Amino acid sequence: MLIVQKYGGTSVANTGRIKAVAERVVAAAKQGHQVIVVVSAMSGETDKLIRLAHEISDRPDDREMDMLLSSGERVTIALTAIAIQKLGHKSMSFTGRQVGIITDSVHTKAMIERIEANRLKIALDEGKIPVVAGFQGIDEFSDVTTLGRGGSDTTAVAIAAALKADLCEIYTDVEGVYTTDPRIVKEARKLGKISYDEMLEMASLGARVLHGRSVEFAKKYNVPLVVRSSFNYAPGTLVVKEDEDMEKIVVSGVAADKNQVRITIMAVPDKPGIAASIFNEIASANIVVDMIVQNISSDGNATDMSFTVSKADSKKALEIAKSVSDKLGAKGVNMNTDVAKVSIVGVGMVSHFGVAAKMFETFAKEGINIMMISTSEIKVSCVIDVKHTERAVQVLHDIFGLAAA
Ligand code: ASP
Ligand code: MG
Repeated sequence: MLIVQKYGGTSVANTGRIKAVAERVVAAAKQGHQVIVVVSAMSGETDKLIRLAHEISDRPDDREMDMLLSSGERVTIALTAIAIQKLGHKSMSFTGRQVGIITDSVHTKAMIERIEANRLKIALDEGKIPVVAGFQGIDEFSDVTTLGRGGSDTTAVAIAAALKADLCEIYTDVEGVYTTDPRIVKEARKLGKISYDEMLEMASLGARVLHGRSVEFAKKYNVPLVVRSSFNYAPGTLVVKEDEDMEKIVVSGVAADKNQVRITIMAVPDKPGIAASIFNEIASANIVVDMIVQNISSDGNATDMSFTVSKADSKKALEIAKSVSDKLGAKGVNMNTDVAKVSIVGVGMVSHFGVAAKMFETFAKEGINIMMISTSEIKVSCVIDVKHTERAVQVLHDIFGLAAA
């Protein structure tokens, strides 16, 4: 088999951990597999680099941030290759550029356009274990780009897709994907299997196990993913195409995301083209808007328009909202940072009635006010006050019977 193994920051947190990773990698090679390793920066390193930049400027340039942040993974690829060599196996480290990971030029959240991977093939043919820097690529100008926080997962899956690997293993510090965050709900249960679509929702809803883009890639190219711990040999969670078993389960997981803010533009004129003008400007700043709610205007003239964006984009989004508000003659803008999005996810929802109603009813009983709602075939999300997050997750986990196997 050709296996891509990705090790996250905690798995390469120090030289002791890196040696343990090397042993694991070499063991797989000794079983006769071809292995490609992808690593993150040592845990805390990327945060530390970001802090340094912010000690100098509160709005550091995105291109320079990429130059800075990509250095973290350079350290771990070299150390990991050295550790594998020390065990008597051939190995060679590669930056994103050396692999030929070509991205667009949207610095700090670039998207992979293609992977050349010639050097990886040559290294494999020579019996070497390639160790690839996660999270980074280069654009058409040869400038270093990064794929967004947590982007090493995406590097691993994209390489697995490009080389048609049989399996992509994502090694982390948890044993797999859980019905919800075990730090919030102690009865949370590890899932044996989850569909790409459910995982996509869970990832985008703040279950921080996998980078969202990595799951999109895995789904598109049908790469089987396994999420498992590098600290033990427990089997982990398989992320694959959905099957009949999965459809029987109505709700597979509850996710919470505290990383959102709600921005409201007040008393926007109620006429055609307004939403377009607001969201075009936000989109051109490369900001993803998650939920949008437009109230019905009571007097027919003006309406409040609310939307959510990630905390990281909130400053920029607020500036844009203010300028649009001025231009449109709206009443002004406010931002609420004390919000959380709590969601239930499950492919079985499509064929079951009353799932959303049950969620709303549960919140009503708990006295939790719902500020925004959005639904899809396989999820229902509510924006609520952040102070209720843990309780909301717990009651939903209970009411949908997720603790029982
Ligand atoms: N080192 C990067 C980060 O901390 C990428 C990754 O770990 O996946 O976000
Ligand atoms: Mg990660």
